[in-house]
Amino acid sequence: MSSQEKYATISPAEFFKRNPELAGFSNPSRALYQTVRELVENALDATDVHGILPSLKTEIALVDEVRQIYRVSVEDNGIGIPPHVIPNAFARVLYSSKYVLRQSRGMYGLGVKAAVLYSQMYQERPLEVVSSPKGSKRLYMFKLKIDVVKNEPIILERRSVENPTGWHGTIVTIHLVGDWIRSKSKILEYIKRTYIITPYAEIVFKDPEGNVYYFERLTNKIPKPPKEVKPHPYGVDIEQIKYMIHQTDGKPMKLKEFLIKEFQHVGEATAEEILNKSGLRAGLEISKLTDADIARLVEALKKLEKLKPPSPEALSVIGEDLIELGLRKSFNPEFVAAVTRKPKAYQGHPFIVEVGIAYGGAITPQPEPVVLRYANKIPLIYDEGSDVMYKVVVKEIDWKRYGIEGDQYPLVVMIHLCSTKVPYKSAGKESVSDVEEIEREIKNAVQEVARKLERYISEKKKEMEAKMKLITYLKYIPEVSQSLATFIANKRDMQSDVYKELKAALTNLVLKRLNLNDVEKLQLDAYKVEEL
Ligand code: ADP
Ligand code: MG
Repeated sequence: MSSQEKYATISPAEFFKRNPELAGFSNPSRALYQTVRELVENALDATDVHGILPSLKTEIALVDEVRQIYRVSVEDNGIGIPPHVIPNAFARVLYSSKYVLRQSRGMYGLGVKAAVLYSQMYQERPLEVVSSPKGSKRLYMFKLKIDVVKNEPIILERRSVENPTGWHGTIVTIHLVGDWIRSKSKILEYIKRTYIITPYAEIVFKDPEGNVYYFERLTNKIPKPPKEVKPHPYGVDIEQIKYMIHQTDGKPMKLKEFLIKEFQHVGEATAEEILNKSGLRAGLEISKLTDADIARLVEALKKLEKLKPPSPEALSVIGEDLIELGLRKSFNPEFVAAVTRKPKAYQGHPFIVEVGIAYGGAITPQPEPVVLRYANKIPLIYDEGSDVMYKVVVKEIDWKRYGIEGDQYPLVVMIHLCSTKVPYKSAGKESVSDVEEIEREIKNAVQEVARKLERYISEKKKEMEAKMKLITYLKYIPEVSQSLATFIANKRDMQSDVYKELKAALTNLVLKRLNLNDVEKLQLDAYKVEEL
């Protein structure tokens, strides 16, 4: 049988152009949502990760009604991008400044390029980037496309002008065939959810219908930015070590020095232990390591005992205060609580789970608790059903045990997982897989805040019961006042001043004790106290 197969290789750009759904661009509605997301996330990474209070301007405009072409632009006040990097950052797939061990929203070096690829597929306008790097006195403007076959930037226009204002940041504008009507609710939800955990940001959003949403900055407190760290011995594999050796650019380096310099928690003693366990010599040149040597090295690294867990310095949590602030502002609940747990690790990657809860007040009860999922400060909106956070909150926690009665839940549970490696289920970053260690930690965290809620509900219930008792006493006041009045005035007269005075005084006394809020006053009306 003669083979008719044709063999070829394609570039990463071609691959994602052929499989846009892998990056979240499956149709015009998802594409519009995903474009906003990628640009907003890059804008936030360029600000808060670097300690800058974010100010974002996001706009979606319909520029061609017949072809449904939308213009999406996002402006930030971040660190900007050096001009020589701009073409690659925006038009070479898998090019990034975030391939380091430090928590950021981006991690694949794909997001904005996936948006540009999709943009190029159905309309012809190029990507526009305007940026002024922090400290630079110039403003750089580019018009770019991606050469999909070669995975290279095509620079259509490049200009630079003076920037006397001192403004630094980036404005990115992308045109694409989208569907606002279908994506509207998801995009708004995305921005609202971003704001809940980013109350230190100021966000303006203009939609294609001409509505302007303004989210004011609620605090100047910004979470502690993450620090770049070295890999933990448990967290590397053969290919990663090869990559690390490659990164040393052929500079001579002995194995022992490499271990101490390039890994977390590896000092003299641990390096010796690794060498012993692997049977490799301390003086071996790393460029001379064979694949078999590296495999032995990885084995030895995994076998290290008593090694400190991976450093959480690379992580940046939101923090209990900001979570509570965001939940209060967005939901106006009667109770909020939050917890930021201690760092944990899975497969050598550090992670921290944070959980916030909002209960009652203005929250409309639902058949299930509302779950707000976040990973590395990104709100996850789609694919809820397959996410481990949703699974824990809705399927694994028995909320009745925490004092929630009935089958309606006036409850919002936010979960934030941060890690140098979030185990997303796809490059579209919409759901987190059920890694055992993470699932267990999420459950513990939810239970911890749930217990706070339980205490609140049970105290409230006790208070309510005490009040109800007093309310019952109110019913006896006319009778008691009458007996007393008869006793004092020596005659039975319901109209007597003594009776009225006594009744008023007693009622007042009890009501003062009750210290009712408005809702309870209404409940009291239901008891027809007026008629007493
Ligand atoms: P990722 O965010 O995963 O790194 P992207 O394709 O979204 O991948 O972005 C590529 C790179 O472009 C980023 O790593 C960053 O260095 C740079 N970049 C993109 N947008 C901005 C921005 N608004 N400000 C500063 N740098 C940016
Ligand atoms: Mg990105």
